[in-house]
Amino acid sequence: MTTPKLPDAVAPDQVPVAADPSGWVLGADDDTLAWALADAELPSLLPALAYLTRDLSLVDPELRPPGLLSPVVLPQAGMPIGVQRRARELALATLRRLRDPRRRPTGPPTPAELRQMIEFVTGEVDDDHMPLLTYELGLPEAVGAPGWRKDEVAPSRPFFVVVIGAGMSGLAVAHRLRQANVPFVVIERNDDVGGVWLENSYPGCRLDTSNFNYSYSFAQKADWAEQFTTRGTILEYFQDVADRLAIRPHIRFGTRVRRLDFDEGAAKWSVTLQRPDGTDEVIEAQAVVSAVGQLNQPNMPDIAGIDRFAGPSWHTARWRHDVDLTGRRVAVIGTGASAYQVIPSIAATVGSLVVFQRSAPWMMPTPAYHEPIPSGLRWLFANVPHYHRWFRFYQFWTSVEGRRAFSEVDPAWDGPESVSARNEQLRLQLVEHLRRQYEDRPDLLGKVVPHYPPYAKRMLRDNGVWAATLKQPNVALVTEPIECIVERGVRTRDGATHEVDVIMYGTGFAARDFLGTMSVTGRGGADLHEQWAGDPRALYGITVPNFPNLFCLYGPNTNLVVNGSLFLFSECAAHYTLACIHLLLRSGAKAMDPRWEVVEAYNARIDAANRRMAWGIDGVTNWYKNERGRVTQNWPLSTIEYWNVTRAPALADYELI
Ligand code: NAP
Repeated sequence: MTTPKLPDAVAPDQVPVAADPSGWVLGADDDTLAWALADAELPSLLPALAYLTRDLSLVDPELRPPGLLSPVVLPQAGMPIGVQRRARELALATLRRLRDPRRRPTGPPTPAELRQMIEFVTGEVDDDHMPLLTYELGLPEAVGAPGWRKDEVAPSRPFFVVVIGAGMSGLAVAHRLRQANVPFVVIERNDDVGGVWLENSYPGCRLDTSNFNYSYSFAQKADWAEQFTTRGTILEYFQDVADRLAIRPHIRFGTRVRRLDFDEGAAKWSVTLQRPDGTDEVIEAQAVVSAVGQLNQPNMPDIAGIDRFAGPSWHTARWRHDVDLTGRRVAVIGTGASAYQVIPSIAATVGSLVVFQRSAPWMMPTPAYHEPIPSGLRWLFANVPHYHRWFRFYQFWTSVEGRRAFSEVDPAWDGPESVSARNEQLRLQLVEHLRRQYEDRPDLLGKVVPHYPPYAKRMLRDNGVWAATLKQPNVALVTEPIECIVERGVRTRDGATHEVDVIMYGTGFAARDFLGTMSVTGRGGADLHEQWAGDPRALYGITVPNFPNLFCLYGPNTNLVVNGSLFLFSECAAHYTLACIHLLLRSGAKAMDPRWEVVEAYNARIDAANRRMAWGIDGVTNWYKNERGRVTQNWPLSTIEYWNVTRAPALADYELI
């Protein structure tokens, strides 16, 4: 074999893009193809090639990997080596064939062919899954656009929408409003788009969900350099989406929403804004969309003496870049998703680091967590049309419902730190993984094994970096409860004072305080925060009785722990919002208010389902539950159910005004 054209060690940002304008692989010689295929993810490459060629032998069930939904991620989804070899040979032959324009198929696959390709990844699925699955695949590319435009439905009716927030959800609904030609403005308190990814700039900040899955179905991206991308790259993605989809001109930056007041007679919202210069302005809108997120109000813990500390201290979401940590004695309080990224990133710089852990986090083994995408795979994404979509789709499917079963409570199970036989099986696998990593440090092993069921809190990622950091000589893991903060450091209940120069709080967010930064008055003077009284509820997380034409995205009970995709859920809520606006424009009704009994019945179902999940059982603590112990944040049901209920509002669910 001759030397491949592309060296093995192509820097991730130098992978050549060789696709021709029509998107077909051209000009790549056999050695290049073989080089790239060595890095291929075969479970998604085979259906991707089948899609291009309509050659269904590529998705023969005999090639289907057995471990697509394994509790821990398996290389090539557990495809036996012999099958991998066969799959690579088939892929090479297919790519060689595609170089010849005369041997390319004419026309896209038929629905039956597409289903066979999809089912290669998913296994047999019900008919009602197919619209969701083709939507997520994003093929054809306009698959999710609203099928109507305001100028066709109600050209002369004034209808203006205020969207609050230009993060993940705000950009999604803005895109759909543009497509439907509904006039709108996005009010954003920051000076750029990106929401939490703009606000969190702590060292080590990166995705802990694969970026393929953490992207819009309507703005899929082929050229990620990593699978769990850094904060800078995901922020660039949002900025790029806002530019490419022409959303930015609709956004008013540096502007805050202070209050929302519904005028029942006129069926309009008055939206009081604080402009960048601090002055107020009131604008009117027929509908308001809250896209303010769940995780952006830092939660400072209720620890005595927190104001007494003499040195600098801050929350991870408000990072102080002006403080040089070199050689300093640093304390980090918390070991959740933010802190566990900060700690390894600063350990080598600081003089000493004391980590205060209240509960150990569970972590899913993810060896490639910090790795770049292999250059051959990147080459394939750049050169094989739609391969990245199939790869995203494969990842989507493994998370769509796949591991949900591992978090469901079996009422007959009585294991003390697990909720079912499957949950116990996962727990034992994770404990074994920890044991292997801490063999040389039994003192640490005793502290890092969690004492609650997997999935009772958010699962983190583990590539060995956490263990390596905790073993550093300048790092101490303290599990003794914190008594108070004193002028010179942190005092624990055993009477020890841990003297430090800097304290960082990785203590999470005031997640359940939905819309907490503004006052909201609805029908009959109803106050949203009084109505919720710390216990937010909405129909499908979107609409709230007494607050007509107010639509919440990523609202109550739409956070995901183990199944689904936050992007999909926001896109679903945006779809539902657009469907409601369509209903209003079509019917001539001015406003729609969800019926109490419908919202109550829906929430009773959600509550019962949450109690059957690992995060909802008595005795576990997490940011998903409110002070009464009710889970206000999480969606406990299947993804297909959210998809189905958000297709369109049911008339019976609403009072039309
Ligand atoms: P978090 O998961 O709520 O973690 C907070 C940590 O602080 C926990 O270890 C908690 O201990 C501890 N803590 C809270 N109050 C304390 C107190 N009074 N004394 C001692 N310890 C205290 O918050 P987070 O890490 O900011 O993450 C929140 C969510 O944001 C995540 O679940 C995730 O959804 C999202 N997030 C995502 C990413 C990403 O994608 N890369 C990164 C960061 C955050 P207990 O566990 O005992 O309560």
